[in-house]
Amino acid sequence: MMPHSNTLLIHAGEDPRVDGAVSMPIFQSAMYLDDGAALTHDDIRYIRLNNTPNHRALAAKLAAVSGAEAALVTASGMAAISAALFSCLRAGDEVLVQADTYGGTHGLVSTELPQFGIDVTRVDGREARSWEAALTPRTRAFYVESLSNPLMQVADLESVVAFCQAHELVSIVDNTFLTPLNFRALALGFEIEVHSATKYLNGHSDLVAGVVLGSEARVKAATSILNHLGGALDPHACFLFQRGVKTLGVRMRAHNENGLRVAQFLADHPAVARVNYPGLPQHPDFERASRLFSGFSGMLSFELAGGVDASCALIERLQLPLHAPSLGGVESLITRPATTSHSELSPPERLALGVTDGLVRVSLGIEDADDLVDDFAQALDSLLER
Ligand code: PLP
Repeated sequence: MMPHSNTLLIHAGEDPRVDGAVSMPIFQSAMYLDDGAALTHDDIRYIRLNNTPNHRALAAKLAAVSGAEAALVTASGMAAISAALFSCLRAGDEVLVQADTYGGTHGLVSTELPQFGIDVTRVDGREARSWEAALTPRTRAFYVESLSNPLMQVADLESVVAFCQAHELVSIVDNTFLTPLNFRALALGFEIEVHSATKYLNGHSDLVAGVVLGSEARVKAATSILNHLGGALDPHACFLFQRGVKTLGVRMRAHNENGLRVAQFLADHPAVARVNYPGLPQHPDFERASRLFSGFSGMLSFELAGGVDASCALIERLQLPLHAPSLGGVESLITRPATTSHSELSPPERLALGVTDGLVRVSLGIEDADDLVDDFAQALDSLLER
């Protein structure tokens, strides 16, 4: 019997139980005894080398849930992204990167990669016909987000995989916004899947972590880079992450339901000019998202008819969503990407992507949908009275 995802979330990676403990203990030891056998570098057990019992148990669980051969847990989502990119790119190479990505990723590829002699070409992830022109003999990889931050665009993910296979490129997808439960990136054919586990995977807004998933060989290469860069997750954070991820299934069901419910409500409200949520039939990528995803997550963004002033007033008047950056936790969060996730970009860069100053991004938590809708209703109605 092949267990389903909730069973894997609870049980995978947990055995053998340590001294009978039902819950994985924290191994707060930086190094481990040399057992006398001839040691190679790979046999040394040390937190920075990502091979303590906490790392191993957590990685085994994440690999099982994602359908990956192997997993690497990292100290942040950016550590996962940089380890993944540096593991398949060398000086002189080029990489295609979807234009609309998280601001930190945008910063990494536009400022750091070129300093190591790696050229970056931005492409529209939804326009497969435009990619061929961006290709050169030096292109080695293609990086996309499964659901983009903050515009909730869905790249032509099937074509990305086919294009990479045809041109021998490594396909890398940041699946943070959807999680392996909503989108099976590796089963579709992506070679490397990365996550900011700070968001949905841990789900409780109390740590920063990341994950790289893929074949044994791909994860080994990313581990080697991460070990040299020093981006290991601490065992205590591994413990918290392992505890948090067990409830991913029930949390994602609630996030998916709340996302759809609030998106539908916003789309019908006269104060709202546009809603970005791929679960709405009017979203340009609705058909693709419905085919590839089993849920659309709790992430959405929208513009108000009243522009940036109305956005600021709305954020002030809402009582449930907390005004804070980041996403994917059990509590609803609201932010303007121009001031947080995309503040690293210049105003012209943001505008070119469609990230206006008034754009509002919401991460819907797992509160009761009726309460969230009531709160948005009171805050939006008050804008019409201004
Ligand atoms: N990927 C996406 C889609 C994100 O939204 C973020 C952070 O917001 C990251 C990666 C970076 O993750 P971290 O902050 O854990 O390094």
